[in-house]
Amino acid sequence: MALVTGGSRGIGAAVALRLAEDGADVALTYQQNADRAEQVVEQIKAAGRRALAVRADSADTAALTAAVDQVAAEFGRLDILVNNAGIYLTGPVEDLGVADFDLTVAVNVRAPFVAARAAAGHMVNGGRIINIGSNVAQRTTFPGHSLYAMSKTALIGLTKGLGRELGPRGITVNLVHPGPTDTDANPADGPYAEVIKGFTAVGRYGAPADIAAAVAFLARDDSRYVTGATIDADGGFAI
Ligand code: NDP
Repeated sequence: MALVTGGSRGIGAAVALRLAEDGADVALTYQQNADRAEQVVEQIKAAGRRALAVRADSADTAALTAAVDQVAAEFGRLDILVNNAGIYLTGPVEDLGVADFDLTVAVNVRAPFVAARAAAGHMVNGGRIINIGSNVAQRTTFPGHSLYAMSKTALIGLTKGLGRELGPRGITVNLVHPGPTDTDANPADGPYAEVIKGFTAVGRYGAPADIAAAVAFLARDDSRYVTGATIDADGGFAI
């Protein structure tokens, strides 16, 4: 049984569907788009799996912890956690305030820690924690990304630390670095899309399903010897 944070749209929705197609029951959290979340739930059910959407703002530690506990209780287990929900606050450093810093850290760093801590309490041997970072943690190509890059780089350390700690319990912890991926947050027909494409080796945006494929590998049993690792699913953006 898998829990995907931010599963109502974009990469999270594609991950939720892929894990369902691979045989998992799937719960997802969302912040505000209840309609989109329910659409994903219906698609998971159409794939023959159980599904549940829970509204939980990742910036709200109590709500996120409660969501993890609720899902584990309703499904009777928790095998896979995908920390996908993220925000993208960008701009010149003089325009970014402390509130932007705090919100970026709360959603992109603190929430993956909080969800992993709660999930680890429910997981047994063979559990999977998969964090969604960003290619900008390795190659910060454009100005204005100081907070976002900082937050995604922090996930490298969180992934390694948790991987080391949970390894003896047979729980793996890994990180996926998406490249430019066609979602509401970064549409492939957006104003900077042509420039962004030029930084990839393959010359195009990825689809959310391309990122989900990397997550699906890390969620499988036969990835059991991979932990603390980062997989770049970025069309060669970082090379
Ligand atoms: P989208 O903006 O398309 O979707 C964001 C999803 O996260 C939605 O389901 C949204 O819920 C949810 N969400 C946002 N904030 C919160 C919150 N505070 N609490 C709970 N849920 C929240 O994003 P993407 O699919 O593009 O990105 C997903 C992840 O991939 C992020 O971590 C992002 O940083 C990373 N990424 C994306 C790249 C890209 O090019 N798209 C590139 C590299 C990394 P709701 O529908 O309710 O708003």
